[in-house]
Amino acid sequence: MIPFFPPDLFEQDREVLIDLVHEIGTTPDQKFILGTRTAAFEDALRTLYGAGDAIACSSGTSALTLVLRAMEIGPGDEVVVPAYGCAPLANTVAGLGATPVFADIDPWTMVADPRAMDDAVTARTKALMPAHMFSVMADMPTLRKIADDRGVRLVEDSAVAQGGVLDGRPAGTWGDAGVFSFVQVKTFGTAGEGGAVLTADPALGRTVRALRNHGQEGPRFVHQRLGLNSRFDEILAAFQLHRLPGLAARLERRARIAAYYTERFTPLRDAGILPPPPGRNGRCYYVYSLLADRRDALRDHLAEHGVASHVYYPQALPRQPAFAPYAPAGRSWPHAERAAARQLALPVYPHLTDAQVEHVADAVCAFATEGARR
Ligand SMILES: *Cc1c(COP(=O)(O)O)cnc(C)c1O
Repeated sequence: MIPFFPPDLFEQDREVLIDLVHEIGTTPDQKFILGTRTAAFEDALRTLYGAGDAIACSSGTSALTLVLRAMEIGPGDEVVVPAYGCAPLANTVAGLGATPVFADIDPWTMVADPRAMDDAVTARTKALMPAHMFSVMADMPTLRKIADDRGVRLVEDSAVAQGGVLDGRPAGTWGDAGVFSFVQVKTFGTAGEGGAVLTADPALGRTVRALRNHGQEGPRFVHQRLGLNSRFDEILAAFQLHRLPGLAARLERRARIAAYYTERFTPLRDAGILPPPPGRNGRCYYVYSLLADRRDALRDHLAEHGVASHVYYPQALPRQPAFAPYAPAGRSWPHAERAAARQLALPVYPHLTDAQVEHVADAVCAFATEGARR
């Protein structure tokens, strides 16, 4: 079986990780959080992506919460989010007592449709929060313009898109703030949890930095504002610093696998299988996601041929029980609902062998040909 996420992600780095645990655990200051390694990791991210500031924190979800809180978003405020995507898009907004307002998505790329986001803006809107999805970055130039025209903030959920570049500009640097996630399965995942906020706004960066550690700014035990515990781990900071130089090559391998899949699947359009658009601009390679008319049958067929696949997400966000209170009666999000019924993700991690990649593509193509014969 070709697993969807590999169990041996960190095999190459196992010794390094064990040595780091020992080294950091036995230094005289025994600093396990927010020490010099976290600061060096933040510097590395800032430099690599040309960001004004980078603040490491405990997860991608927490990074979004820190940004929204730093923007003073709360009860009575609205944040426009895509109707299709992961729970934190709505959770983080609702968790602050604000209202997530769902905008429909582009039917092909599955990212937020800028026009739908624009239409969802009201006098109460404080921010737009688009997310990059699977293999495609949201249309950030258009969203930037809408946010500026409407006088609202732009929060870029780039949790899956670290290393992606759109029109020469890195993912995470398009919004007033962007976020990364280092949860294991993401493109720069680690052996645990973590996240980061990127921002070019110095005041926002300072506030996020204070909020992640109980609202302390300046002297210790002086709390200027209500904060969170969203600190970053020193062992993981050192581990991520070790893994950072290899990231570009791993992303390149993902990109090549994705390009190969797209080349093989583009002719399957008439057979009800639609790959993401080709090309490199505005692409990211967290997972490779296609749209299939007979999604569940394709999934079964792949399993029979030893290929694990994944359905993200089986329901549009406003159709989730948790977010039903934010789904106005009578509203629908047809593209999001159609994506939830058709989306299927294939393995795209960098250490897949060429033979495995070919096997995955062959299995998808065989399904399409069999369907055509039936
Ligand atoms: C993974 C993910 C998050 C949350 O990141 P965590 O580190 O798991 O909290 C947020 N947004 C998107 C789009 C994600 O894919």
